[in-house]
Order: sequence, then structure tokens, then C-alpha cells
Amino acid sequence: MPNYFTENRDLVNQFNKLELRKVVEILEHGYTQAREYDFAPKSYEEALEIYKGSLELVGDISGNFIAPRAEAVDAEGARLENGTVHYAKGTRENLDKLSEAGLMGVIIPRCYGGANFPATIYMMMIEMVSRADASLMTLFGYQDVGETIARLGTKEQGEEFLLNYTSGEWTGATCLTEPGAGSDLQSVKLEAYQDDTGQWRLRGLKHFISNGNGEVLVVLARSEPGTKNMFGLSLFACHGTDERVRVNRIEHKMGLHGSPTCEIIFDDAPAQLLGRRRFGLFNVLYILNHARFSVAAQAIGIAEAAYGEALQWSKDRVQFGRALYTMPPIANTLIEMRVAIEASRSLLYGSVQWLDRRNKIEEEIAELKAAGKPHEEQKAEFDRAARYTDLLSPLVKYVVTEAANKVVYDAVQLHGGMGYMREMEVERLTRDVRITSIYEGATSVQVVGAIKHVMADVLGELFDRMEAAGYPADLSSSLKELTELRNLFRDCVTVVENEANAASREAAAKELTDMYAALYTGFLLLDEARTNDRKKIIARRYITGALAASQAGATRVHRSHFNDLEHTDSVCN
Ligand SMILES: Cc1cc2nc3c(=O)[nH]c(=O)nc-3n(C[C@H](O)[C@H](O)[C@H](O)COP(=O)(O)OP(=O)(O)OC[C@H]3O[C@@H](n4cnc5c(N)ncnc54)[C@H](O)[C@@H]3O)c2cc1C
Repeated sequence: MPNYFTENRDLVNQFNKLELRKVVEILEHGYTQAREYDFAPKSYEEALEIYKGSLELVGDISGNFIAPRAEAVDAEGARLENGTVHYAKGTRENLDKLSEAGLMGVIIPRCYGGANFPATIYMMMIEMVSRADASLMTLFGYQDVGETIARLGTKEQGEEFLLNYTSGEWTGATCLTEPGAGSDLQSVKLEAYQDDTGQWRLRGLKHFISNGNGEVLVVLARSEPGTKNMFGLSLFACHGTDERVRVNRIEHKMGLHGSPTCEIIFDDAPAQLLGRRRFGLFNVLYILNHARFSVAAQAIGIAEAAYGEALQWSKDRVQFGRALYTMPPIANTLIEMRVAIEASRSLLYGSVQWLDRRNKIEEEIAELKAAGKPHEEQKAEFDRAARYTDLLSPLVKYVVTEAANKVVYDAVQLHGGMGYMREMEVERLTRDVRITSIYEGATSVQVVGAIKHVMADVLGELFDRMEAAGYPADLSSSLKELTELRNLFRDCVTVVENEANAASREAAAKELTDMYAALYTGFLLLDEARTNDRKKIIARRYITGALAASQAGATRVHRSHFNDLEHTDSVCN
């Protein structure tokens, strides 16, 4: 009876070190909600108990209900028949199970039937559900559709769209991408106009929309005719059940077969403006911050599943008279995989807490402003959390999803020829993990998105504190290596700045972002290692590898490989 929470010591460890006191206090309005709602906590300690109980429940459902259905869901897939999308049998059962447990609205406010949890806790749930069946993430993991309506919409819109959403009766989708607007969402063309009665209507096509058959659609559309940039875009809520919204096709994909990826036609479909007109893309950036962390959580879940398969296989498979597990190259690969997963987890959960802080302090400031109270202190806190989130959301998405792809690659490799066979779970995981570094913004777009903040050394003051924090003697060599990495990073930034050319900054973006991610992850692991001998091994291994990789990256920066870009045509054609 595997429980994906209680039996995952690293995830439990991450939960135990969360520092969400300030976030939960704002979220729970100073713990005053207990008067109104039965399950609202009366203190931070009680909130943590509730979160822990819910994580245990998701761990149980994931390990014992969802995981056993994953193979059949992948084989059956979702299908489109006469304009209606049908989920695989197992997907339907999984949704029913999660709805019965009251888990389909965990980040949505209680007034709409949700559980009002911080995003950090929700990410832990997404990790576990994705470990069991990655395709279910686009249903369970899309609660930010509802959260967006709760945050931007009016009370009436919240009640209209969310009460059936949190009960699990309805699901949703975020409709951004069009054939001509993928990474570049400023190019969105889908038209939004007001008819003679003032009713907003949507006309046009969206494609590649996960769960586009959902009942609640959040749609980015061009509300200002004649504009071509982001200022002509607004966000809308639309009922997917309206007869003027039609799923035209679903994609035949490499993986995530349980998740229908839809092309949707909006044929003058009625819709409601969400939030401020012309602020559509600003609001989408807020959604994407959340979504990128969700995809990182999904990737860790898949990597954890692949690791479990690889470990078991290496113990069972005997060659040359002994189990693969006992062979040094295999053991080394397993350790590397473990380090990659745990480093990713530290980075994700160390980072997403800043998203929670940013979002909740913003709400607190709005309330203080409305009450005419001072809020300078909160503003300073908000600015810091916002700066960190702007950096960490693309950085984490990039680093964690690429690391997960590598872990799954290694898991197949450890299976030898059997890893290439359809009957093995790692084959499905290989197909499923591949999308994580593409959707919600592909890797190179994330790197370009992070570089401005990396160059500005946004986490500099945090690193100063972490560097000076004092560590046990047996971690001193790792601390020295991190200091060396920091100097290397600063040196490379100077080199790139001296180039005084925006193209060279983008060309060096990957090397610099890798170094910066390694620094933050290294400090987080070092902190965890203080009191945990096993983590000392993980931290040392990670930091030594990160320094070596950074030295190679620094060599590339110094030798100006970026000048080769001038020769793209002659080299590539
Ligand atoms: C299975 C699946 C599910 C999806 N679900 C959703 C969904 O629910 N809702 C939704 O709105 N969309 C969804 N998408 C769309 C997805 O977010 C896009 O495919 C993704 O953002 C990339 O856009 P694109 O495919 O148009 O690639 P392109 O924009 O054409 O990019 C191609 C490549 O070029 C790179 N690139 C592009 N511009 C730059 C740049 N300026 N600098 C550096 N590199 C660059 C990209 O990183 C990428 O590697 C989904 C896609 C898939 C495949």
C-alpha cells in the first residue's frame, strides 16, 4: 500500500521545513475564518496539521488508486466522438475519486467551496498525482484556472463559474496558444468584441489546449481591434458548454494520452471580461508564474516514478553473476539520479514559497489600502518577493524539467533493452516527461526570461546571508566550493556586461542561468545538510558537480563562443 507522501522521506522533509507562517496568516485573515467555516484552522499549527493530513490523503489516493490505473489510461487515451471528448475510463474514475475527497479546489477560496490552501502545498499534491499518472496533472493541476477567476473576477463571476468547479463537477482550461501565437503570446489574434447588447463574444481558434473540452475556459483574446501588441489583449471567462464553443479535434500525441489536447473553435461565443480590459497579458503572466511551478512539480513526480522503476530493476536484474545495483557505474548513476531529484525538489519548494508570499502580501496590501491604513513595510516585502518570483519562476521551470528529462533518460538506460519495450513503465514515462520542458513556455524561452534577473543578481543579499550562516566543519569544503562558484558567476557577468551587446547576453543566458540556479540550489541543500547526514552526501555531490559544470560554462563565456553566432549561416547550412 504505497503512500506517495508518508513513504517519500524527501518530500516529508521538504514539508517539515516549510516556512509559511506569514502566508497562512494572510490567507486565513488572521485565523478569523473558523467562525464561518468548519474546516478553517484557528492557528498556524492547526493549518499545518490540515495540510499534512491532506497531503497524506493525496499520497494514498495517488499510490493506491491513480497509479494502478495509469497504464490503462495511457493505452486507452482520451478520444473525440461526434464533437464530444471522452476521457479514458481510469481518468474518469480518478476525477471522481479526487472530487469525492474534496481535492478539486484546494487553492480556491472557501467562499467558492475551495480549501484555501497555499500554492506550495498544492505543488506537493501535483508532484504526487503526476508521479502516479502525469496526464492527470492537466486536470487536477489546472486549479489555477479557478484561482484566476476567483482573483480577477467579481463575486458573481466567482459564484457562476466556481461552485461546480470546486465540487469537481466541472473542469477547466487556460486557452492562450494559437497556431501563430505560441511562445509569442503578444501575437494572439482571437477576436473579442461586444455585440449590440454589450455582450462580449469570442470569435476565432485556439489550439494545443489541455483539457480544452472543460466546462470553464479562461481565454486570452484581442479586445482592441487594430492593435498588434500586448496592450490590445484582455482575459475572458467562457462556458465551454456553450453551443458556440466547439472542440474541432484532439491531437495524437507522443505522451500524456489521458489528457485531451484540443483545438477549439469559438463561434461568436458569449464570454465575460475577467479583470481589467487591456490587462490580459499582464494577468496571464501571473497565471504563468503559477503554471511554471506546477509543471516543475509534475516533472519531479515523473522523475521520482522513473527512479523507483530504475532502482527496482537494478536490484532484480542479474548480469555477470550479480545484481546491476552492486556495479559501481550503475550505483553512480542511481546516486546521480537521486541527487538530481532531491536538488530539484529543494529548488522547487524553496522557490514556490516566494510565489505564495508575493501573492498573499499583494492581497494584504490591497486590503490595507482599502482600509486607508499604512502599508510601507508590506510594500518592501512584496517588492522583494516579486523580484524573487520573477527570477525563480522561469529558472525553476527550466532547470527542473530538464533535470527530470535526464533522470528518465537514465532510468531507461539502466533497464537496457527492456527499457525500450512498450510493456515497461519507463517507456511511458519517457513519452510523458518530454512535454514538461516545452509547454507553459519552452526551455530557451525560460532561459531568456530569467537572464535579466540573473544578471541583476537578484538573490545576491540572500546568498550573502546563506554564505555567512555558519555550517558544521564537515561542510566547509562545500561552502568553499559555493563561494568559488559565486566568484566565477560574478566574473562571467562582468565579461558579458563588457560585451555591451544584447545578443551576447542572450547567447550567454544558459551558462549564467545554470550557474545561478546551481548557487541557489547549492545553498538550499547546504542548509538542509546541517542536521541530516544523508543530505550531506547529496549536498556535497551536487555542489562538486555544479562547480565543475560552472567552470566549463565559464570557459565558454570567457572564450566568447558566442562570437560563433556571426557564423551561424556558414556553420548551420
Ligand atoms: C501537450 C501540450 C499541451 C499544451 N497545453 C496548453 C494549454 O493548456 N494552454 C495553452 O494555451 N497552450 C498549451 N500548449 C501550448 C504550449 O504552451 C506551446 O506549445 C509552447 O508554449 C511553445 O509554443 P510553440 O509550440 O508555438 O513553439 P514556438 O513558439 O514556435 O517555439 C519553438 C522553439 O523556439 C524557441 N523560441 C521561440 N521564441 C524564442 C525566443 N525569443 N528566444 C529563444 N527561444 C525561442 C522555443 O523555446 C521552442 O523551443 C500545449 C502544448 C502541448 C504540446
